[in-house]
Amino acid sequence: MVEWICEQCENRYLIKLEADFSIEPTWCGKCGLSIDIYLLPLSISLMEELLMWGNNYGKWIDFKSDSLAENGIELEKKFNRKGLQLTEKVKNELGSNFTVDYKSSTSAEWYKNKDC
Ligand SMILES: [Zn+2]
Repeated sequence: MVEWICEQCENRYLIKLEADFSIEPTWCGKCGLSIDIYLLPLSISLMEELLMWGNNYGKWIDFKSDSLAENGIELEKKFNRKGLQLTEKVKNELGSNFTVDYKSSTSAEWYKNKDC
């Protein structure tokens, strides 16, 4: 069995899922270090699903006008629902030795308030 350990804080059971631009959505839940997703004992199919999901991060922002895209709030909600589903899948694959948290994206809300 593959063991994962955070190279920075040596935590081996706290994982956080949080999507951001141009980076894998897997993080150390203790010190916040970005985790190379391939180091986690996950199936390739789930890794790919996570990476595809992460690539959709921010689709609700229109960078040309630096504002919220049409249906931006809906898109972010959908993204967060998918994120929670993936969190459950990750929990199932990593097993009960791990604690996996999901941090919701709030950038669409942020953009909405910014435009007000
Ligand atoms: Zn760490």
